[in-house]
Amino acid sequence: MSRKVNFYPGPTALPLSVLEEAQREFVDYQGLGLSLVETSHRSAEYDAVHTRAAELIRELLGVPKGYHVLFLGGGATLQFAMVPMNLLSGGRFCDFTLTGAWASKAYEDAQKLGRVEVLFDGSASKYTTLPSSLSAHADAAYCHITSNETIGGVQWQDFPETGSVPLVADMSSDFLSRRVPVERFGLIYAGAQKNMGPAGATVVVIREDLLEQSADNLPAYLSYTTHSKSNSLYNTPPVFSVYMIKLVLEWLKGSGGLDAMERRNVEKASLLYRAIDESGGFYRCPVDPRVRSHMNVVFRLPSDDLEKRFITESEEAGMLGLKGHRSVGGCRASIYNATEIGGVRTLADFMAAFARKNG
Ligand code: PMP
Repeated sequence: MSRKVNFYPGPTALPLSVLEEAQREFVDYQGLGLSLVETSHRSAEYDAVHTRAAELIRELLGVPKGYHVLFLGGGATLQFAMVPMNLLSGGRFCDFTLTGAWASKAYEDAQKLGRVEVLFDGSASKYTTLPSSLSAHADAAYCHITSNETIGGVQWQDFPETGSVPLVADMSSDFLSRRVPVERFGLIYAGAQKNMGPAGATVVVIREDLLEQSADNLPAYLSYTTHSKSNSLYNTPPVFSVYMIKLVLEWLKGSGGLDAMERRNVEKASLLYRAIDESGGFYRCPVDPRVRSHMNVVFRLPSDDLEKRFITESEEAGMLGLKGHRSVGGCRASIYNATEIGGVRTLADFMAAFARKNG
């Protein structure tokens, strides 16, 4: 079997060794005589997987004491609502940064649930840059950022200083891709399907004091307290996704952890940005070089026709997922943890050859 090079924005590439291990033990999980996905989520077998996955997130990300790690369903999208539902009780308000399509979706939901102050609105510059600093309101319940905009390709390289105002981050598309100072965040959330595993689980890392402020009149599933009290086993968790997350985290640990992953991700991104910047203007990246994403490299070609041809020919050459998001067009290479550097080199070489032929 020849596997393609995977540049999909998510769901996306998983390490081949993880897929093979899951395949080996899918039908008979470690001699149990059942698949893990046919087994009760209350069984000792699942419990061991669930506990280990949370431990590995703590260890790899460097989660300090006083934070809880939760596995929830509903995607990162549910967190757009759960964060304000839990943290804006008692008429409080939050600060927001509008940095692209995902921040805007989170903002729309937050607005339905409480008052939101916008600290930065990037729409005027078509979401191609980020502010160098923020002035959070001292009495805001939290300040929301999107650490990496998957569609627009902007990424906070340094996190903003917000004083005593807890930073809340949607890290869906760069979670576990680099070191982050977790102690500066009140809450981090991330859907699994970019750097962690198949879709299904969303990880929430929440500081205890925010958990304690949580609204107490929420339906059970929508309350963080419910999930922290029951170790994310209040209801049936997304067992397959959590199982795969555990395998991916073991792979991540064996590959040198977040420092090694960050070095590798920077190297991969540099290959592509170099291919763009050295193309004599054939490729253009609209993003401010200061905040170019190391996960989603967006670029344009001189015309729609050339972009179409680029996608077709890249597919013929074995590279999938390079079409930009339907809302913005253009091209995008998503290069998460499991995308190998060899695949990225293949793309950089393809880009140079395509520019020579069509420039
Ligand atoms: N936030 C970001 C930054 C994303 O990239 C995505 C999905 N692409 C989401 C939120 C929504 O995630 P989900 O589909 O898991 O709800």
